[in-house]
Amino acid sequence: MFEFLLPPKLRRKRHPSRKASAPEAHTLPEAALDFTLQRDHCRTLRLAVRPDASVRVKAPVSVPLEDILRFVRSRLGWIREKQAFFLEHRGSSVELRDGGHILFLGRTFLLRLVPAKRGRPPRLRAGRLELPCRSDAPADIEAAFKAWRMALAKLVLSRRLARLDAEARRLFGDRAAASGLTVRSLKRRWGSCSVRGQITLAAQLIELPLPLIDYVISHELCHLRHMDHSPAFHAALRSLLPDARERETRIRIWPLEHPRS
Ligand SMILES: [Zn+2]
Repeated sequence: MFEFLLPPKLRRKRHPSRKASAPEAHTLPEAALDFTLQRDHCRTLRLAVRPDASVRVKAPVSVPLEDILRFVRSRLGWIREKQAFFLEHRGSSVELRDGGHILFLGRTFLLRLVPAKRGRPPRLRAGRLELPCRSDAPADIEAAFKAWRMALAKLVLSRRLARLDAEARRLFGDRAAASGLTVRSLKRRWGSCSVRGQITLAAQLIELPLPLIDYVISHELCHLRHMDHSPAFHAALRSLLPDARERETRIRIWPLEHPRS
């Protein structure tokens, strides 16, 4: 989400006890721009364009509506630019129903539900995932899908990690090594590395193309050597992956094209 934000100091000075009003729908008539307006007790006007291209304004109770409309009008170019960006990058996410689709290594696979029978494993072949399910209730489909994704993520990610971990040791000529791998369903992050060298990766990573998975793993492996994002960290990352910067740009755009499931 793109936002005009206050400096961190001011942001912390909100009054949590005084609630914001419910959002009201407004339109900027000459631009046919719809937005929601929420009144609160902050000191400044704030404007945000969300990934669904909707526009949200938050304003102090004391500011008259005409001033708010003038403010929105003055930012119209910026709003249109962000809306265009989000619309251009909006793509398909995972669709969990029979005939829907899932993503694996950046490719789309048709989802076919098959009756769950004892010992029948999910099968990924010829552009489709055959997923055994107890019923076609959304909760059952989601549980079966997440169990499949987790099992496959553990397999794929541990193999990539082992390979890149060895490559990094060879390249850097050191003995730094990941102490362990945890795969979890993560909502916001792709991965992390603890001070003890424990690497955590998101199960959702297996939806990404392999070069982006390798980017995330390489990023965490460089944190075994540099626990920050200093120039030394980035230099290490670029020596491991010369096109790290390009991959990082692609991975930043990915969630806009494919909202996380
Ligand atoms: Zn990092």
